Amino acid sequence: MLETPVFDVLVVGSGGGPDETNLSAYLLKLHNAQWEDGIVGLEAGSGQGALARLLRKDPCTITKPGSPGNAYNASEIYSFVRCFLLTHAHLDHINSLVVSAGSLCGARKRVYALKQTLEDLEIVFSDRIWPNLASWKEDDDAVKLLYSMLIPDGKYKTISPAISVRTMPLNHGTNALGQYNSAAFFVRHDTSHREFLFFGDVEPDSLALKPLTVNIWRVAAPKIPEILSTIFIECSWPSGRRDELLFGHLTPEHLVDELSALATEIVKYRQTTTQDEGKKRPFRKRQKRGSLSPDDMKDALAGVTIYVMHCKDDMNSGSERHIREVIVEQVRLIVEERGLGARILAAEQGACITI
Ligand SMILES: [Zn+2]
Ligand SMILES: [Zn+2]
Repeated sequence: MLETPVFDVLVVGSGGGPDETNLSAYLLKLHNAQWEDGIVGLEAGSGQGALARLLRKDPCTITKPGSPGNAYNASEIYSFVRCFLLTHAHLDHINSLVVSAGSLCGARKRVYALKQTLEDLEIVFSDRIWPNLASWKEDDDAVKLLYSMLIPDGKYKTISPAISVRTMPLNHGTNALGQYNSAAFFVRHDTSHREFLFFGDVEPDSLALKPLTVNIWRVAAPKIPEILSTIFIECSWPSGRRDELLFGHLTPEHLVDELSALATEIVKYRQTTTQDEGKKRPFRKRQKRGSLSPDDMKDALAGVTIYVMHCKDDMNSGSERHIREVIVEQVRLIVEERGLGARILAAEQGACITI
């Protein structure tokens, strides 16, 4: 099933630290538009510095229309950003937004996020940690970022021409203040109604005080794979790390448990719709809720591509192989063992992913 792409996603950074040159940052545009027509900055861990480095390696990454040999520089590309979309305010997701606020060129930029995330940003932009370069006032200086709240109300909000997002809260562990949340975004191309799903940092539902990821899977299930076939999700740690040391993140085993939860929702949804359609395809056997067999789940995620991101760098490892490759292979093996049928890829820094 080859569909016309609707989105381009340039991976400026995809790590989860400590390498500060490769932190979560993705530039999103409509596939059939130019970069200068407007970009959504999806997370802002790395930014112009990482992009400048990528452009030095491959100067033709983003060329000016009509002049193939003439490439934009990193500052010019970031001037085309209309808004930033943030899952949470941990530094590995906002670092470049903070450091570059005040020197970003182009039109005033909105920062879309959940209320708590914007309030966390206010602590940073408070004239102490960093100058106050963001405000809630629509008529404030163009140099100031504009806080723009996303509400997890089940509705899609337009954040850029032809791009809307539905925001859902996620668990990202507990700390001294209690439950800490990040967010997941269903990003929709309004013309085709195609979507992709982008996760902030994720605590496994099996360890959370109150599971939240399953709500996202329930919303995603009916859309897969025709409307939604691309999911960006974290896997910070390699296999074998103890649950007490996850700090609100996933390992390959937990990630595939989450993907199995999605597969379960898909199978349940398809069974219900098959029933509704006059029992065209009878069940193999009558089953209670939640008692699906591995056979039922087989290939439930066929047609879905999972981009694994936010792998935490192992700076002490002398290994030639990057930890990301190790983690992605571990995820791929478990997905194959369970026969889920999803394609597992790494979100590689510098890649331009079409969706
Ligand atoms: Zn993170
Ligand atoms: Zn985080």
